[in-house]
Amino acid sequence: MVDIIGCARNLEEALNLVATMPIEACGEHSLVLVGSMEILIREKGLRKNPGCSLMEAKDGIIHELFAGDITHPKSKEIKEALEELLQTSFGLLTTTAGTPIRIVKNLRMCEDFHTVMCGASLIMRREIVLRDNIRFHHFHDGMCSCGNLW
Ligand SMILES: [Zn+2]
Repeated sequence: MVDIIGCARNLEEALNLVATMPIEACGEHSLVLVGSMEILIREKGLRKNPGCSLMEAKDGIIHELFAGDITHPKSKEIKEALEELLQTSFGLLTTTAGTPIRIVKNLRMCEDFHTVMCGASLIMRREIVLRDNIRFHHFHDGMCSCGNLW
């Protein structure tokens, strides 16, 4: 079945079929099929569709974001926001519940991230102390000590 669909050049449908095949039913045969499909993909120079998200921004414009895409006009800001979220996530994973998360940044945090940190302190019930290159921000219960002067 996979070969028939694959030969009909509907590779995505064939890949979806392979992905939904019960592995126990086919055992080693499905591994052969998956291996064949990977070889076919490489030989044809095809690529699987990247992850994609659609998001409505505050201006009402729908943005289409692809995984690994650096052509979006806001890709630099997106990358910076992701790095800031990664730092905060690391703080959550490596600190004890109930203790403050302390972050020092060499750059000024963006306004959107400031809003996220306010929400994170409320939702996670954690104090977040963040020093950027302008001032200290103490986030607690959804508020910041800077009075949202950011
Ligand atoms: Zn602040």
